[in-house]
Amino acid sequence: MNQSKRSLEFATKIGCIIDCSFCPQKLFISNYNKTSKTKDIEMSLDNFKKIINKVPENVEIRFAGMSEPFLHQRCTDMILYAHQSHHEIAVFTTIVGLSVEEIDRFKTIGFNDFVIHLPDNNSYSKIPINEKYLLVLEKIFQSNIKGLRLSSHGKIPKILNPLLDKYGYGSFKEYQGDEIHDRGGSLQIQDNAKSNSLINGPIACPASGGQEIKRNLVLPDGTVSFCCMDMEMNHILGNLLNDSYESLFLNDAFKSLRKLFNSNSSDFICRKCIYVQRYNLYFKFKRFFYTYCPSFIQQTLFKLKQIKGTKPKH
Ligand code: SF4
Repeated sequence: MNQSKRSLEFATKIGCIIDCSFCPQKLFISNYNKTSKTKDIEMSLDNFKKIINKVPENVEIRFAGMSEPFLHQRCTDMILYAHQSHHEIAVFTTIVGLSVEEIDRFKTIGFNDFVIHLPDNNSYSKIPINEKYLLVLEKIFQSNIKGLRLSSHGKIPKILNPLLDKYGYGSFKEYQGDEIHDRGGSLQIQDNAKSNSLINGPIACPASGGQEIKRNLVLPDGTVSFCCMDMEMNHILGNLLNDSYESLFLNDAFKSLRKLFNSNSSDFICRKCIYVQRYNLYFKFKRFFYTYCPSFIQQTLFKLKQIKGTKPKH
C-alpha cells in the first residue's frame, strides 16, 4: 500500500469458516455481537454502496480483514461498484468462495494488490485444496491479474507445485512463509507466533501513516474500527451508515486515540503490535513530506518502491 494513501478495508462478513490458527475469530465474533446494534452477519450490497458513495475517491478500498471476502456472495459486485466509483482497489484473499466465472468479471481491473494467501504444510491456514480450489487458482494465474502476488505462512504443499511451475511461480516453492504474529496481543502465542513487548513513549505505525491512523476497517453493520488488528473492538471511530467519512477523524474517539499514541504511560493495542515503532524524526519528516511534497513526486517514489518489490504485510 502507498503509505501516504488512505485506505478503507471491508470485512464483508462476520464468521470466517476457514478458521486459520492465527486469526482470533471467536474473540472477534463475541466482541462484535456485544457491540453491534444490528449484529448484521453480512454487509448488504445496498449498504456497501451507501458507504462507498460517502468515501472520497482517493481512498483505496480493500477487501480483506476479519473474514475471507469472497465468502460473501456479492463480493464481486462490491469490487465492481467500488471500481466504477473510481476507487483504487486491493484484494487479500484465500480464494475460498471465489468462482471461475467471477474472475472473468473483475480480471481487467487494475488492482493495486491482488494477494492470494496460499495453504501451508503446517495447516496454519486451513484452506481446503480440492478440485474447485485448483481450478480457481489456475484461472487466476491465466488471467493476468494486475497486482497479483502470493503469500503463505509456511512452505507450500507439493500438490500446488505443477501449477506454480506452469505459470512461472516456481521460485515460490522455496518460500519459507510470512511470520505469524499475535495481532496486537489478541492471540495466544502458539508455535512460532511473534509478539511485541510494550513500547513506552510516543509511538507511530508505519502501516497506518505514522500517527495519521488512516488505514481503517468497516464491519458489516457499518461500524468503523481504527485498524483490522483491533479484534477486541476497543477503538471504534464511528459508523459510516450514519456518519460522514471526514467526521471519523474529527470526533472524540479519534482524538483520544491520537492521545494514546503520544501518551507515555498508556497501554493499548498499538503498543503491543509488531508493526509499531517509536515516533522519531523519520516519522516527523514523513509527515512533513506527505503534507508539503507535490503528489507527482510522491507517486514516482511510490512506483520506484513497488518496482523494487515488497511482501504483503498483512
Ligand atoms: S500499530 Fe498495529 S494495531 Fe496500531 S494501527 Fe498499526 S497495525 Fe494497527
